[in-house]
Amino acid sequence: MQPIFKYCPNCKSSHLDFSQGIKIKCSDCHFEYYHNTAGAVAVIIQKGEEILLTVRNKEPQKGFLDLAGGFIDPDETAEQACVRELKEELSISVDESGLRYICSNPNTYLYKGILYNTIDLFFLYRDDDLLIHNFDSMELKGFVWKKLFDINLNEIAFESQKKVLSLLQKDLSSD
Ligand SMILES: [Zn+2]
Repeated sequence: MQPIFKYCPNCKSSHLDFSQGIKIKCSDCHFEYYHNTAGAVAVIIQKGEEILLTVRNKEPQKGFLDLAGGFIDPDETAEQACVRELKEELSISVDESGLRYICSNPNTYLYKGILYNTIDLFFLYRDDDLLIHNFDSMELKGFVWKKLFDINLNEIAFESQKKVLSLLQKDLSSD
């Protein structure tokens, strides 16, 4: 693993061992820290034939297209995280029972020099009457509605999302 700390958070020693996978160990005081995989959700919001993509206003991948979603908070279900993130990012209230789990994909997220491993859980939410009037302008530059086939995967922020959107595009073309 890349050295994400310079000094041991416990004893301030610089003798840290990053060679043991996700475990970071201090050779002096034997402090151990596990840089575990973080859970995140992403929601494919579908209205008619179109899918909602947000435009990131933050690093990493500022300016790229993204799916609404984010990290799962402690003590939260993945579905609750979807509902919360959609409320925060797009000011919409969705019913948890309308979320359909699709699949998961591992991803990496580089934030302020630290590489986080995430497991992204993908959900589909379909609402043909959905109206969005607002968005969180700190997080997002805006949003766009696109037909699945019109989505250029090179404009998508994250590899995990490209995989899922590419699968959906293949599914649709084989129908
Ligand atoms: Zn130490």
